[in-house]
Amino acid sequence: MVIAETLEKLSNACGVTGREEEVRSLMKKFLKPHVDEVKEDKLGNVIGIKEGKKNTPKVMLAAHMDEIGLLVKTISKEGFLQFTKIGGIDDRILLAQKVIVYTEKGPLHGIIGSKPPHIQKEEERKKVLTYDELFIDVGAENQEQAKRMGAKIGDPVGFDIKFARIGKDIVIGKALDDRVGCAVMIEAMKQLKGKDCTVYAVGTVQEEVGLRGATTAAFGICPDVGIALDVTVAGDVPGVREVEAPIKLKKGPSIEIADAGLITHPKVLRLLVDAAEENKIPYQLETGLPGSTDAARISLTREGVPCGVISVPTRYIHSPISLLSLEDVDNAVKLTVAAIQKIPKYF
Ligand SMILES: [Zn+2]
Repeated sequence: MVIAETLEKLSNACGVTGREEEVRSLMKKFLKPHVDEVKEDKLGNVIGIKEGKKNTPKVMLAAHMDEIGLLVKTISKEGFLQFTKIGGIDDRILLAQKVIVYTEKGPLHGIIGSKPPHIQKEEERKKVLTYDELFIDVGAENQEQAKRMGAKIGDPVGFDIKFARIGKDIVIGKALDDRVGCAVMIEAMKQLKGKDCTVYAVGTVQEEVGLRGATTAAFGICPDVGIALDVTVAGDVPGVREVEAPIKLKKGPSIEIADAGLITHPKVLRLLVDAAEENKIPYQLETGLPGSTDAARISLTREGVPCGVISVPTRYIHSPISLLSLEDVDNAVKLTVAAIQKIPKYF
């Protein structure tokens, strides 16, 4: 399967934080042919292991399987679902979105509604409606009918967006943060040859609420080196100054130097830059991002783990739909494979 097809299946699957089941089963299926063993740990992380020779370094790759979304909080007498947010969602992007409520009885389609603007007061119209003023309309006549349709408190809700290719190498879709990291990891495991490292390819859970899955997975694996595969903000859109977000689409994956939770270990930084330079893989260097990745937690495991991050430049992260270039994805795979192959020389 080519990487765009893998990404499409992963993007369309539901994986609201804490409810990663659908993505988890895809990850197991896609990793299986390329590793010696696939495990699931107690928290739900998927771990694909490619065994190296005896006493070779242990490398942990991490790509998070979860996505930002909503959870049903209450069902009103009139049959509307009120919700809470999971992960960093901007209230401004919620109104009028098509969503899917994942119930035990199957998916329920709905839209996010609000008090109609026509009857809002002047000052109401000027302010952003917060999530607790919004509701999901699944077309139910009342609370009983909504429940009969399958809705209940705690159901995860995802955005109803289908993956699409909109240009030769540009794709759009839901949850590309971080299904693209998952796709890069699967493809890297497919292409990786040799037994000079033992590689743990980990699809992590609950990244968006505090890097939780990576914390426990890294404790279990106790790696010598960690590399998170994630997305970064592509700032090449109107209204963004270079100094705010210098990373651009189609200029190669970004190698992170520092973010809010990690200062890339100098040896890992050298490894990644050398791997890119020697193999003529385009790359961008990035520093000062306010967020963080699974690498932040992996680096603090036990007595410490040297870590770095390879990110795919992506526009409109943490909105219902984002956009990226498949050329950058291919180069992220090349960089991941090249870096792993060089690890024994550096560690
Ligand atoms: Zn992410």
